[in-house]
Amino acid sequence: MIYDGHVHYTGALPEDYLKLMGYMDKYNYTDDCCKNIDAFFRQYQDIQKLTKPESNLSEHYKERVAGICAYMRKSHVFGFNLISGMDTDIDRLKSRILGTIAGFQATSYKAKITLCFIKEANGRIKNLDGNILAKLDAWLAVTLDVIPYIHGFDICGYETVKTESIQDTCDLIKDLTFFRNKYGFLLSSHAGELFVLYDPADILQMFEKLLPLHLDSIGHGTFLWIPDEFLNISPDINKLRKRLLQEFIKRHTLFEICPTGNALLSPLKCPENISRQYLKKLGLRYSINSDNPTIFKTHARREAGLLSP
Ligand SMILES: [Zn+2]
Repeated sequence: MIYDGHVHYTGALPEDYLKLMGYMDKYNYTDDCCKNIDAFFRQYQDIQKLTKPESNLSEHYKERVAGICAYMRKSHVFGFNLISGMDTDIDRLKSRILGTIAGFQATSYKAKITLCFIKEANGRIKNLDGNILAKLDAWLAVTLDVIPYIHGFDICGYETVKTESIQDTCDLIKDLTFFRNKYGFLLSSHAGELFVLYDPADILQMFEKLLPLHLDSIGHGTFLWIPDEFLNISPDINKLRKRLLQEFIKRHTLFEICPTGNALLSPLKCPENISRQYLKKLGLRYSINSDNPTIFKTHARREAGLLSP
């Protein structure tokens, strides 16, 4: 049974939709996006514009989400967690959540929402306003039928690796712990995905800051689990890296591995360089996910087949 635990909204409507929009003719996105990271993010943003609802009306969310569900069903993926942005306005957030659930229900699909906060380059959280968490709690407390459809929270966007710029992320995770205790929501953060852009010592500091927060999962975490031979770092830094990875393993943190995406955005280059035997030997708890079905023209079932034995 394949469950895709990490699907971004850009993965909304796959190839057929892009063809219909003329997008496939405009860019040969499958070739271009694999050439370099800049091209990847330009196209990520372009596709996001196409696949995101043009308004916050819940009807639009319903339609888009039903499209994702249909694609997942066609790909024989049993269920998925859809990472969808938080909103700072409670009414817009409500219609986003309700529209998404309506999309799941319209196709009788087993799926959940992961509400996502987005980090800016300076470490600030873009879509967080002081009151939104209290308002969300007040709504959930009287809208109990919504709770089973919410997987939890995630933090994505720019990787902020300096100790001073990760503080907002850490404070937010502490605030979100309230929702884990009250509603059983799981907490996740993207980290160590695009590590090639940063100083390894800074990335280690970031993971050190995240460690005591007891995240349930880490989105990607490639820097921590990537085999030695793909990294060009000093033996001392590598020793620290391995010690930190062991600490996360001890805490049973789940690593959400997205083979195609992780290979593209790291020195791994191709997903075959991730081997199941290697991950097993590490004792890593991991899941295999698609990340962006549209951009990578993939689904979790295909991704699972890309790893080496
Ligand atoms: Zn992701």
